Amino acid sequence: MKSQKVSLDLENEQANLLKLLAHPVRIAILKILRQEEACVCHMEATLGYRQAYLSQQLAVLRQAEIISDRREGWNVYYQIENNGILQFLDLSEKLVGSGKSKIPIRPVSCPCPKCSAKTGKESNCNQAKKEYNNADN
Ligand SMILES: [Zn+2]
Repeated sequence: MKSQKVSLDLENEQANLLKLLAHPVRIAILKILRQEEACVCHMEATLGYRQAYLSQQLAVLRQAEIISDRREGWNVYYQIENNGILQFLDLSEKLVGSGKSKIPIRPVSCPCPKCSAKTGKESNCNQAKKEYNNADN
């Protein structure tokens, strides 16, 4: 007798979600956003990855409705949309066990509007990007 395969539609969706999360930078982004909403230049200052690369990962997370964004003036802030995802972060961290994350809670110096508001300097991500690129040359 030929056995009939059951439909794995749900399992397929679960696998797709795991694939989406199976990415260290995306996980790092979610760890930053679980603290508070942040713009891409804050993530750049925290993780040391370029904005263009981070934006690609943010787009994937946003498309999956794991995060959302809001625009404020010149800046776009990202936040976690699906809080259930945080349980996955906690669980997977527990499963791998040892080791402490090296992601700083606050970047040493951050040009983002939120961090620079605390120092009284006017700033936005575009400015920060320019300064970052100039510093590169
Ligand atoms: Zn910042």
